[in-house]
Amino acid sequence: MRIVTGGIAQETNTFQREPTTLADFLRPGFGTVVRGQHLLDLEGTGTVYGGAVAEARRLGVELVPTTYGAVMPGGRVAREAFDALRDEILAGVRAALPVDGVLLVLHGAMALADHDDGESLLIEAVREVVGPAVPIVAPLDLHTNLSDAMVAGVEAFVGYKEYPHTDMPETGARALQILAATVRGEARPAMAHARLPLVVPNQAMVTTWQSPLKIAIDRAREIEREPGVLAATVLGGFPFADVPFAGVSTVVVTDGDPALARRYADELAAVCWERRADFAVRPTPVATAIAEAMATPAGSVYVLADVADSGASGTAGDGTTVLRGLLDAGARSAAVAQIMDREAVAACIAAGVGADLTLAVGGRHDGLHGPPVEVTGTVRLIHEGSFPLAGPMGAGTTASRGRTVVLEIGGPGGIELQLTELRGHPHDLNFFRAFGIEPTERRILVLKSAAHFRAAFEPIATRVIEVDAPGISSPDLASFAYRRLRRPIHPLDPGVTWSPER
Ligand SMILES: [Zn+2]
Repeated sequence: MRIVTGGIAQETNTFQREPTTLADFLRPGFGTVVRGQHLLDLEGTGTVYGGAVAEARRLGVELVPTTYGAVMPGGRVAREAFDALRDEILAGVRAALPVDGVLLVLHGAMALADHDDGESLLIEAVREVVGPAVPIVAPLDLHTNLSDAMVAGVEAFVGYKEYPHTDMPETGARALQILAATVRGEARPAMAHARLPLVVPNQAMVTTWQSPLKIAIDRAREIEREPGVLAATVLGGFPFADVPFAGVSTVVVTDGDPALARRYADELAAVCWERRADFAVRPTPVATAIAEAMATPAGSVYVLADVADSGASGTAGDGTTVLRGLLDAGARSAAVAQIMDREAVAACIAAGVGADLTLAVGGRHDGLHGPPVEVTGTVRLIHEGSFPLAGPMGAGTTASRGRTVVLEIGGPGGIELQLTELRGHPHDLNFFRAFGIEPTERRILVLKSAAHFRAAFEPIATRVIEVDAPGISSPDLASFAYRRLRRPIHPLDPGVTWSPER
């Protein structure tokens, strides 16, 4: 059995004004474009391919690699970036023909500069090359905004069930299993989906606690154990995308039973709809959170999550509101990961290690994450920026935020501020350890992350507090100027109703 594989994965925050370019995909540690054998070398990593490649080997399936491009979430993808990656994938698929199936690795919330639904364009292009008889199966991110065109183009979708996305490998493996069974004639996928008039904040999709989305996902796991069910998925959607089909959806794949798929897709949607009021997120005022952290006994580790400025949701990563709060409160033993500010990094590097300087940091990118803040500190460290990830998420891969500086404010034991050249999000303990900061020995860790930080940081945290600061991954969805999103939709419009399709 020959399965050809490749894909493009990007999550688009349409409120981020900076487009995502081909150079972004190609920037090591920020993006990744993996070709040929290097794609198979991902076996065992904390990625979709980490599981899919291992499963292909286990099943004796020949996996023919083409090109896979992924990049930090951000603005809409430039057309030339999409076209270049798509053309490489199509050339690889053509060269691999004849094939028995396609494993297409997608994110599910990619918007292009001139098109809201990048995934459907890629699916349609691949379908045109392989023809109608070759099955296409795709793993999806939990933040997928599922369109009808996407569903029309593939035999089966299977989504992540964890947020933080610690189950990427098993999702890749599951997709490969469904595809292999389909090729062998052991399964005949029948897929149904339901899309709710419901958009919910990322922070209410977390699965490290019993969030409203997790309640539905737990039911999906039960459904997957029923006979005749190949995959049951609840997609939280990506609310920071102003596209018509954004929001919560479900997709169920059964073995040859469309009515059963329909029934379960509707049931899972109903579980989410009944809990729609529970998806509201109310973060804590910054000053309150800092005061609580400073009042706790020595040895405590308080994580203050700057959830509205999460690079994993495509924000600038240069928000200053929490830093302002730390300065105002005279906080000590605090470490901030990270503020993106190329000019400040350049100024610190020009000053040199050990130099004292006063400069404005952050708030330059789009003015949506607080104004620049003036700080005085000592340049403690200048780092070229890349380092290995310990995981769980992305274990075995490398991250980079470009050149990174640690500025120490208020002397030893004060505030250690990381300044970076590139946007990003700290979801791994190495975002401190790589820069000489031991996170278990700091009273306050400020993390610009909506939720992915939880996989690595909840185990070391005395307490996690989501703080209330401005930004384009804010859980306050009413603060976004949606223009293209379908209406009416809960919670932006009053009195929205929904009932399952019959
Ligand atoms: Zn996601």
